[in-house]
Parts: sequence; structure tokens; C-alpha cells
Amino acid sequence: MNPAVPARIQRIVIVGGGSAGWMTAAALATGLRGKGIDIELVESEQVATVGVGEATFPSILNYNRMVGIDETEFLRATDGTFKLGIFFHDWRVKGEHYFHSFGDLGQLAGPHALWGQHRRLGLAGNLDHQSLPAVMAREGRFVVAEPPKPPYDYAYQFDAALYAAFLRRLAMQRGVRHTLGHIVDVQRRPDGGVAGLLLADGRQLTGDLFIDCSGFRSLLLGQTLAEPFLDYSHWLPVDAAWACPTERVGEALPPYTRATALEGGWAWRIPLRSRTGNGHVFSSRFIDVEKAREQLLQQLDGAPLAEPRLLRFTTGQRQRFWVGNVLAIGLSSGFLEPLESTSIYLIQCGISRLMVQLTEGGPLDDEAVARFNEGAATQFRRIRDFIILHYCTTARRDSALWRHVASMELPDTLAFKMEAWRRFGVVHQYDEEAFGTTSWLSVYSGMGCWPECADPVLDELPRQEAAQALEGRAQAIRRAVEPLPAHHRYLADRLR
Ligand SMILES: Cc1cc2nc3c(=O)[nH]c(=O)nc-3n(C[C@H](O)[C@H](O)[C@H](O)COP(=O)(O)OP(=O)(O)OC[C@H]3O[C@@H](n4cnc5c(N)ncnc54)[C@H](O)[C@@H]3O)c2cc1C
Repeated sequence: MNPAVPARIQRIVIVGGGSAGWMTAAALATGLRGKGIDIELVESEQVATVGVGEATFPSILNYNRMVGIDETEFLRATDGTFKLGIFFHDWRVKGEHYFHSFGDLGQLAGPHALWGQHRRLGLAGNLDHQSLPAVMAREGRFVVAEPPKPPYDYAYQFDAALYAAFLRRLAMQRGVRHTLGHIVDVQRRPDGGVAGLLLADGRQLTGDLFIDCSGFRSLLLGQTLAEPFLDYSHWLPVDAAWACPTERVGEALPPYTRATALEGGWAWRIPLRSRTGNGHVFSSRFIDVEKAREQLLQQLDGAPLAEPRLLRFTTGQRQRFWVGNVLAIGLSSGFLEPLESTSIYLIQCGISRLMVQLTEGGPLDDEAVARFNEGAATQFRRIRDFIILHYCTTARRDSALWRHVASMELPDTLAFKMEAWRRFGVVHQYDEEAFGTTSWLSVYSGMGCWPECADPVLDELPRQEAAQALEGRAQAIRRAVEPLPAHHRYLADRLR
């Protein structure tokens, strides 16, 4: 028997005070204001938050706008910097790099990706030269352009603990009740749904809807309701990370995250204003945990501010995210590994789907919840495929991890997409895609995957004109970037 979906919601209990919990609390307190719904967030002082989610995706701007956060105030409060994309080093082979930007490549990334065709015909150089944000990133420059909208988006890099604290203040100002307490028991309803939570000090919390933001523990959805976990570690074998902040070195602040492929995983470098976030995400199947720690320490370019911290996880997702009166948001619903900084984005998507349901959706019933689950689970799988693309296209064979990912069988959905690209130069898009054609093209191009066949129409294009158009675009981008301020100067001016 499936537990019943609540017909009417008057009391919402959020379990967990990490990024997921406080993002959910702030959004609900804003979106449900005046509806007479009581919101309470409970978190344990005995269970620390993960707190290393520091790099984000452009849609975070929409979340911040939705809850009414001023950008300058936010950057000041969270040690924030701007992010134009991710620099990938050593992924195809050692010594090569490419940039996945939040940019617009226009026609070059259109449905019949012209870039792939140009490249096949020997016309094109480096795709990064055709991308305004990639050139801005390379030159260390950044500006929030005035409208009309420039051909790039941007995201932020910030201290996740400071962001959660910032949202906590905001959510509490808007009426969210904050309870410190460790949940020791979950009481069930006769139909299997959750009736209440028992805290270690004997207090009881009841509610109509319980939002599980309890992190990897997945206290309600995973542990209590035993919703099956779909394990993706065959395709995404990383299962641990060492994280270590270091002192900021020098004045410059790269407006991007760096991801460097290593023997048994990859290392991140995320520049904040007062420090740098570093980590080594690795697969303990392919590299010894202590060796992974050493490799992280070798990557650091500043003095460590703390001992490296080890986090363990399994990549995958719950089969359903919403069951009866329990909905999981954040790590409790699944984790795909941080390569494309998509966890906070997925938190935001979960919140948006819930808000639509609570404010403008039809009746809250089994059908509505099934639709929620279908959309949310599909979106997870689309991102999974995009992350796998970064691995399976490698030409590296220098260690067991890279040999595994280069030869593993792919999910059918990804295999189909890659075949469409290889055979026809088409970047196929499914529903619920988080990453558009520009993103797919950036990775195909960076990893040296080119179509075998050109669009016949292209054969009609005068080659010289096409080559001149590309060179003209690259020159225009270089000229546009030259006068822009350095990222650190721009930030200093904004936050003065
Ligand atoms: C190595 C690594 C790197 C990452 N990098 C990024 C990144 O760059 N970008 C990105 O978007 N995401 C990243 N993430 C993911 C990101 O950290 C998380 O999505 C985000 O922090 C949200 O976590 P959470 O709130 O779901 O869980 P947590 O932060 O784990 O919070 C769980 C909460 O539940 C509470 N809790 C647990 N048990 C109980 C109990 N019994 N009683 C009461 N309360 C309880 C805890 O006290 C805590 O408050 C990364 C994750 C990892 C592991």
C-alpha cells in the first residue's frame, strides 16, 4: 500500500539545516506567505552538514531573485565570486584543456551543430575562441553586463555554510520556526506515511508534509520508507572526496571552477574571496584513500587552512522522490557527484516543482505526485548522462579508472545521443535536459568527438567565407573582452 498524499497541507516540517533545508525553508516562507501554512525546520547539532557545495549553476540567480536576495548583499555575506563555467584539464589526454562555459554559441551549437560540421571539414580551430565567456575566463575578466542580455550567463562560487546561514536569517524573518533537536524515532501512520518525529529530548513534531533534507542519511525517504536507491556507480564510480580549504594566493581571482583529471578521479579548485576550496573526488575502487589524500595535497597552491576532510558517498538516486507525505530534496534524494556543480541546481528544481504544486498545480493527489516523480527522476538521469559523457569520451588509458570508463557500457539514452552526434552531427535533446546544446558541444569538442558525416547543405557553403566568419567572430570576442575589468577588481568595486 502506498501512503496517502496529504489532501490539505497546514503544517510542513523540514528535516535538515544544510543548503537543501534552508533553501527549501526560505523559498516556502516566501512563496507561501499569507497562506496560513506553518513551516518548521528541525536540525541536529550532532550531525554536521556536508557544507562543501561551493560551485553553482546559473539558475541560482533565479532562486535568489525569487526569494528576494540582493546580489551584492549575497556576495558580501557568502564570500562569493562569479563563475563563467568550468575549465577541464587533462580529461581527454594529459596536457589538454577545454572550457565548458555558460555561454551562447548561437548557430555554432544549433540543432545541426555547425561547429561539428565545420570542424569535420577542417575549417575550425579551438571552440573556446568562439565563446565570449571562455575568453573572459581565460583572461580573468568579469562584468555583469547591463541589459540587453549579453550572450552569456553566470553563476556563483560561495561558502555553502555561509549561504545556509544567510538563508536561515531570511527564512526565520519570514516566519519559519527553527528547532534544534536530534531525531531518534519516526512515528508512522497506519497507511505507512509519517505521522511525527521524536526528538532525543522527548519533544514530538507532527506535520502534514515532511520534507526530507537530512543529507546522505535520507532519514525519512530512505531509512523510514525504504524507497529503493538506483545505484549509478557502474557509470560514475567515484565514491569519496577529500576536501581542504587553502589560503588565497595572489590578487587575481579566476572567474571559474577548475576540474583536473587525476589517476583515480579529479580535483576541484574553487576560488572564493578569502580562501580557495579544493577537493579530490575519487573512486576508492581505483585508488587507495591515502594516495588520493597525497595527490590532493600535491595539487594545493596555498597553505592549507584545515586538515583534509574525507566524505564518502554512492552515486545514484532514489527511485521516487515523493512518497505519500514525504518528499526528499537535496542529498537525501540522490547524488551524482559534483563534476558539473548540479546538486544545488537539483535542490532548486525540487523546490520549484513543489512550489508549482502547492500554489498553482491542480489537486494534490497520486497523479500529481507521480508527475512530480517522473519529471524529477528524469532530470536526474539526464544530468547523469551528461556527467558520464566527460568520462566515457576520454582517450586516457594510463590508469585503471580511465580504462574502465573508456570501455564501460553506456546507458541507452546516452548511447543514442552520442550515436546521433557521431553519425549525423546532431545534438539530440530529450525532455528535462538541464544542459543545452552549447554544453554538449563544449564537451564533445573538448574531448575531441567529431561527427563522421556532414550535413549535405554544408557542402554548398563557400569554405573560405565560413572560415572568415569564424575568424571574424573570434576577433570580435577578443576585442570585446580587452576593456573588461579583472574579476577581482570588479568584485572589489561592487562590494566596496
Ligand atoms: C565532495 C562533494 C562536493 C560537492 N560540491 C558541490 C558543488 O560544488 N556544487 C553543488 O551544487 N553541490 C555540491 N555538492 C553537494 C552539496 O554539498 C549538497 O547538495 C548540499 O550541501 C546540500 O546538502 P543537504 O542539505 O542535502 O545535506 P547536508 O548538508 O548533509 O545536511 C543534512 C542536515 O540533516 C540534519 N540531520 C541529519 N540527521 C538528522 C537527525 N537524526 N535529526 C535531525 N537532523 C538531522 C543535519 O543536522 C543537517 O543539518 C557536493 C557534495 C560533495 C559530497
